Amino acid sequence: MASYALTEPHAGSEVAAIRSRAERVQGGFRLYGRKTWISHAPEAGFFVVFAKVAEGREGIAAFLVEREGVEVGPPLPKLGQRASSAAEVALEGTFVPEEALIAREGFRLAMGVFDRSRPVVAAMAVGLLRRALDEALAYARVREAFGKALWEHHGVGFKLAEMAMDLEAARLLAHRAADLAERGEANSMEAAMAKAFAADAAVRGVSEALQAFGGNGYSEGYPMAKLYRDAKALQIYEGHLGDPAGDCA
Ligand SMILES: Cc1cc2nc3c(=O)[nH]c(=O)nc-3n(C[C@H](O)[C@H](O)[C@H](O)COP(=O)(O)OP(=O)(O)OC[C@H]3O[C@@H](n4cnc5c(N)ncnc54)[C@H](O)[C@@H]3O)c2cc1C
Repeated sequence: MASYALTEPHAGSEVAAIRSRAERVQGGFRLYGRKTWISHAPEAGFFVVFAKVAEGREGIAAFLVEREGVEVGPPLPKLGQRASSAAEVALEGTFVPEEALIAREGFRLAMGVFDRSRPVVAAMAVGLLRRALDEALAYARVREAFGKALWEHHGVGFKLAEMAMDLEAARLLAHRAADLAERGEANSMEAAMAKAFAADAAVRGVSEALQAFGGNGYSEGYPMAKLYRDAKALQIYEGHLGDPAGDCA
């Protein structure tokens, strides 16, 4: 299990503002800094750690660090996605050999990773939205109010139709972004659009799906409460910003 350690307590969206640093020493580097929200840190065997070897965003480099070299905090309590852990990570003068430097152009690497990871987050959003729609549709077919099935009330049926349209659009955007990546073509814009649209559609859709369940949607005995909590993270992680200078697109 590997973890990706970029975010810091004071800098997430603004990658160039990270403060972790790597000092060159005999035979390698010493790493100093604190990272937060690092997924799977409690279980990870090694970490990709971003730290500055020089000032500015061009000074960011990426290092491969074995677990023994990092201090991992307790799992962070989270709103949702609780099957996946996240924790703080600290490096206090950890020595890594020369070959641990896996990318000198760390900023460019981080932006490139977004091009790959954002289509994946978009795909997660599509999956979540699909489950929410399937569940809401099944419920709205059998649950009755005022003498007819819920879905037959336009106020509910139109919401479900909107979810279905969002689902198709999100799926196509995700496929397009992933397809470009697979062909080795530039996809920064498509990946960001797919991620932003699909995550927003999932949050919007799952809220409407929960509403269709009425009081039962608010119960842990039905799937909506969990989906509702899980969806929010999709808008947050993997960010939504590109390289402000545009030279990594
Ligand atoms: C469940 C989870 C797992 C995560 N896993 C990892 C991981 O494995 N590795 C890792 O490195 N990080 C991870 N993160 C961190 C995540 O990438 C950051 O939380 C995210 O990039 C946002 O950074 P921030 O929290 O510092 O928010 P901030 O950067 O402080 O932003 C706060 C708010 O302001 C908005 N904002 C910021 N700048 C702008 C702007 N220029 N224009 C408009 N709005 C702006 C943001 O969108 C956000 O809504 C994870 C986070 C979560 C919640």
